[in-house]
Amino acid sequence: MPGLPSRHTMGPGLDFVDLPSLSAAVHNCRRCPLGHSRTKAVPGVGPADARIMIVGEAPGQNEDLQGEPFVGAAGKLLDQLLRGIGLSRGDVFITNILKCRPPGNRDPQPAEAEACSPYLEQQLRLIKPEVVLVLGRHALARLLPGYESISRLHGKVVSKDGVTYIPVYHPAAALYNSFLMGPLEQDFRAVKAHLDRVEERRQVAAAVATPVSKPEEQLTLFG
Ligand code: URA
Repeated sequence: MPGLPSRHTMGPGLDFVDLPSLSAAVHNCRRCPLGHSRTKAVPGVGPADARIMIVGEAPGQNEDLQGEPFVGAAGKLLDQLLRGIGLSRGDVFITNILKCRPPGNRDPQPAEAEACSPYLEQQLRLIKPEVVLVLGRHALARLLPGYESISRLHGKVVSKDGVTYIPVYHPAAALYNSFLMGPLEQDFRAVKAHLDRVEERRQVAAAVATPVSKPEEQLTLFG
């Protein structure tokens, strides 16, 4: 994808042509020690042409057992938030910064995130989503390093290197701190507003590009 950092390459011959080959590589990955402690790797799920890509932190216990992201309590809340803006899980591509569970659900370590980052970069390149939802402070630190904290940036549209991001509070944070639930719902409304704006612009561009027949051409239709 143009503009994405090029310093992380997978090495010769490891540029993935599609999501299934990327997922297969994640299932065999031993780029960091988490590849040895995981039960199942969790590459991500969703359609290859998703308009929205959701990036969380790392698989937890349920995700590690099932090989799918966001299948626990935070996932249920995520589904609910998506439904609230007229979307379902099947409409979005969901993944994490780390594709394997850190033991005991500890925070991702910088070296793990670094080792795993080529997968996320290639997912971004293959999917080319209209917007990337950045869930919580760990994903924010990785995808938008040097930007403001999640408490300042949540719900705002950020463009960087040709990719549009909207950081939002992590659903798990809102489950722990109920005062974050309102702001999180508001963040999802900001996502919906952004998608509506993109769609409106697309329709205007399509209307401008459609040739309108001239009046004299219309007249000839009636002789
Ligand atoms: N489940 C995930 O897959 N990622 C998170 O960040 C939290 C729960």
